[in-house]
Amino acid sequence: MPTFTPDEIASLRAKYRAERDRRIRPDGGGRYQPATGEFGYYAKDPYTERVDRRPVTDRVDATVVGGGFGGLLTGARLRQAGLQDLRVIDEAGDFGGTWYWNRYPGIHCDIEATVYLPLLEEVGYVPKWRYAPGDEIRRHAVALAKRFDLYQHALFHTRVTELRWDDDAAEWTVTTDRGDVFTSRYVVLSSGLLTQPKLPGIPGIADYRGHTFHTSRWDYAYTGGDQTGGLTGLAGRRVAVVGTGATAVQVVPHVGRDAGHLYVFQRTPSTVDVRDNRPTDPSVLDSVRPGWQRERMDNFLTVVTGGHADEDLIDDRWTATAKLQRTFLAGTRAELTAEELELADFATMNGIRARVDEVVTDPAVAELLKPWYRYMCKRPTFSDHYLQTFNRPNVTLVDTADHGGITRMTATGVVVGDTAYEVDCVIFATGFEVGISGILSGNLQVYGRGGKHIFEHWANGFRTLHGFSCHGFPNLFQLGPVHNANAVNFVHILHEQAIHIGAMVGEAENRGARRIEPSLEAEDAWVATIDATAGDSFAFQSECTPGYYNNEGDPLPMSFSFGPGPIAFHELLRTWRTDGSLEQVLWKD
Ligand code: NDP
Repeated sequence: MPTFTPDEIASLRAKYRAERDRRIRPDGGGRYQPATGEFGYYAKDPYTERVDRRPVTDRVDATVVGGGFGGLLTGARLRQAGLQDLRVIDEAGDFGGTWYWNRYPGIHCDIEATVYLPLLEEVGYVPKWRYAPGDEIRRHAVALAKRFDLYQHALFHTRVTELRWDDDAAEWTVTTDRGDVFTSRYVVLSSGLLTQPKLPGIPGIADYRGHTFHTSRWDYAYTGGDQTGGLTGLAGRRVAVVGTGATAVQVVPHVGRDAGHLYVFQRTPSTVDVRDNRPTDPSVLDSVRPGWQRERMDNFLTVVTGGHADEDLIDDRWTATAKLQRTFLAGTRAELTAEELELADFATMNGIRARVDEVVTDPAVAELLKPWYRYMCKRPTFSDHYLQTFNRPNVTLVDTADHGGITRMTATGVVVGDTAYEVDCVIFATGFEVGISGILSGNLQVYGRGGKHIFEHWANGFRTLHGFSCHGFPNLFQLGPVHNANAVNFVHILHEQAIHIGAMVGEAENRGARRIEPSLEAEDAWVATIDATAGDSFAFQSECTPGYYNNEGDPLPMSFSFGPGPIAFHELLRTWRTDGSLEQVLWKD
């Protein structure tokens, strides 16, 4: 068990603080360019042609906004609750959500497929790989849509612009950007958190005349190859990859292998742990019995959220790190003090940094690739090829931290400080705008009872019951972490949310209730619960290097999710569904 002297602790703290401070930007997260207007090209759908169609003006039982796993899971549960006419709407050209858009070379899900891919038992599917490639995940999404008959009324390349509640008819009027105006008894919003590609707000970005695209709209016509690599179109070309987050970690090995020269522009290094992908272990699935997936999902969620499980069924780097953080110094004791947690974190991060030294042959490059912050400050990543790529003679790491990122772009390349890098192609692995889809985007207007806008309802702060529903906005449900639960395997959270919505709708249908709607008192009580259970993530996030986890270094001083964590929250929902509380949101008039 490693120990730290007081000097080592002081020096690590000072280093973390210094590295954080040199990355704090006075303009926070503001300095980025949305992929709209003259930059709309970066968000265009390269995979499915948009076809003209007649507007729909019909009536459906339920509308689900978003065709990713949240929408698919809710669609499945609404189907099981007995609803007939379900309409899924998405801006994409097909089902899959993030897995529809992201098809870059190397794409995989870094959470084990047996716990990430939902409803495996229902469709009788066994993932081929421990960490599934993106294409397999997208195909699974399509299989779910078929299995639950969700293509029936689906509208793709369509954005919902307005929802308006009609109290007499007890239904929503749904309006879209394709001229559709139809009615729907229930509406579910599941439009995701990281959906709009984001470009850095680099001066001169519009001046660049070479080829350029965002990783979530990969241009295989230019690069050649496919999601498994083989980017023959990059042979002999000078390519820039901007960004070193979870996406870049998967992309860079392929571009490095195939480009004439690759420049990787880094502002903050990621933590890069061992991947060890391999075909799904048959012994895992030999022992399957009804409920096997549920058991694995619950086990993973328990272990990674610091709970106690007799056995670690997944046993990978996510769970190993969580267990290290929980047991380091404290043996089997569940509760660690803040200081003990910090020491456990130092141990984890020392291991991550030691791996950089082991893999990267040039010590100066290795130094630049070391992350100096606490483990969960940024999305952890896993790769057995990323760090290795920097040993290639045709790959250059350009660290931009001292300049706050890329200084500017010109017609022919990228400038950092006084150094210009001439490149034929710039690939932006710069992530997504956070939480701007759905209601919060401001592009979807929601009017509840009496024509009240939902922002009016939230004028003094966000108020919901369990994050799902609001008083005055009957039969409308939102998915997401706010006032609900959050976890690294977010599909698990969506799975529970879909079960809950399906249960509420099923009960309303059975009892002949026209409305599902919480009282103001129920909302008040839930807001108080969220406030009272707020964890101390603000203190943790304040010390973190800037990123989207901490609002670019300026964390919001409020809690969004249920403090005791997802396991406790799911238990709370299960109890709520059976202790008579559910009936209190059902109304027959
Ligand atoms: P991120 O937002 O995580 O990363 C964006 C990158 O761009 C960062 O390295 C950022 O640097 C960099 N950047 C932004 N602006 C500039 C600039 N001006 N100059 C230089 N660099 C800049 O996006 P990703 O697409 O990598 O990942 C988004 C999320 O998608 C992940 O957090 C994860 O949730 C999910 N994901 C999940 C995967 C999975 O396997 N499950 C795989 C891939 C993604 P800095 O850090 O300094 O801001």
